[in-house]
Amino acid sequence: MEPIAERLAKVRAEIREAEDRHGRSPGSVGLLAVSKTQPVAAIRAAAAAGQAAFGENYVDEGAAKIRELADAGLNWHFIGPLQANKTRTVAEAFDFVHTIDRLKIARRLSAQRPEHLPPLECCIQVNISGEASKSGVAPEALADLAHAMTALPRIRLRGLMAIPAPDREFSAQRRPHARLRQRLAELQGAGLALDTLSMGMSADLEAAIAEGATLVRVGTAIFGSRQT
Ligand SMILES: *Cc1c(COP(=O)(O)O)cnc(C)c1O
Repeated sequence: MEPIAERLAKVRAEIREAEDRHGRSPGSVGLLAVSKTQPVAAIRAAAAAGQAAFGENYVDEGAAKIRELADAGLNWHFIGPLQANKTRTVAEAFDFVHTIDRLKIARRLSAQRPEHLPPLECCIQVNISGEASKSGVAPEALADLAHAMTALPRIRLRGLMAIPAPDREFSAQRRPHARLRQRLAELQGAGLALDTLSMGMSADLEAAIAEGATLVRVGTAIFGSRQT
């Protein structure tokens, strides 16, 4: 197995090539290193190789790592399903939440965000493939949720996130990402100042970048397979 620094460099190169190939400006696609289930030592290795933004899926695991790495100056994104009874921990520990899918959760995060911290950055997760089992707000309900969230003082809505249904074919992979980009454009057209499209994982990275991703979320390609 190659060291984390090498794999990270490979993923970065892949992102830069995709930016080139699809007319995206260099550096316009950020990389979120998804470190769920990975040990603190692996996160330190990635941080030493220049990676600053990390994604965690489980509240308690993430909060423990954030405490342990408090000296490292890292940026922490919560990307897992979020239940109401866990919002306080997220509001106190994380910088960014990608998975807001209902107003109740947004209200709690805003109310629980400590005053000494900047507003919590947020994306709304959209069920862009319309899968019954997947989390995310239905596209029809997105605009109301987005507008309601802009009134909350301690969170800052930055954009949209999706986990499209997997597909092996490139043009099929592009379609749900294109729909998410279209939704973002509609909200921008309605006056919301949004700048983030969190979409694309190891398997559909290039399709997401082709359709405007500003933040791709990559785990396995950086850290290797997950421990269970
Ligand atoms: C685990 C996870 C990823 C990363 O997946 P890999 O296949 O390991 O790259 C990205 N986004 C979300 C929401 C995840 O849960």
